[in-house]
Amino acid sequence: MTNEPDLAHRLTAVREGVSDALAAADRIGEPIVTVVVTKFHPAGLVRELHSLGVRDFGESRHQDAREKAVELADLDLTWHFVGQLQGKKARQVQRYARVLHSVDRVSLAETLGDADPRTDVFVQVNLTEDPTRGGAVPADLEAVAERVLANPALVLRGVMAVAPVESEPRRAFAHLRELSDRVRLLDPTADRISAGMTNDFRDAILEGATHLRIGSAITGKRPERR
Ligand SMILES: *Cc1c(COP(=O)(O)O)cnc(C)c1O
Repeated sequence: MTNEPDLAHRLTAVREGVSDALAAADRIGEPIVTVVVTKFHPAGLVRELHSLGVRDFGESRHQDAREKAVELADLDLTWHFVGQLQGKKARQVQRYARVLHSVDRVSLAETLGDADPRTDVFVQVNLTEDPTRGGAVPADLEAVAERVLANPALVLRGVMAVAPVESEPRRAFAHLRELSDRVRLLDPTADRISAGMTNDFRDAILEGATHLRIGSAITGKRPERR
């Protein structure tokens, strides 16, 4: 618990940064979810954050995520899966994750099975020029979203993206907002936008993000991958 004061300070600083950006975006009072991404950090850190009031946590690797979810089963947490999803692991991820931010292909939307409550889904879009990166290419967005809508086990919430390193984040998030408009033509309730990390969450908020995925600004530097 030695780093708890620092942790509390960083969390407060991010909460203030989020409030300031909401004000700058003329969005005061709008609901926004800050998912704290704890990948590579131990379960103890999640416990400390829980004691500071955090309930939404993000993980990107199934093995680590499952271990933490089991170890912390006594806490009322909502797990968000934000990493690349393997088809054959997807149903296992659904056992602990209430929200999947990284559904990016038709086959995955078809593979996901029943969960109680139904699993919330964001369709991840690839905003880079590199088709090997995670996310559906924008041309495939409707096809993936329609498969999610057709699967009664899933609830389509909206779109997710990571801003490409090579471009200006504000422009990338403006593009994501246009893609969100396209999904809302298929289902007006699928109006959430998962965007914004440590270095770009202010830009994401200015472009309508409803779900931020923030890691190191709150947790501190990530330990090396084990
Ligand atoms: C690690 C990660 C984050 C958080 O990154 P930070 O820069 O530490 O805030 C957000 N989204 C995804 C998909 C990630 O893998």
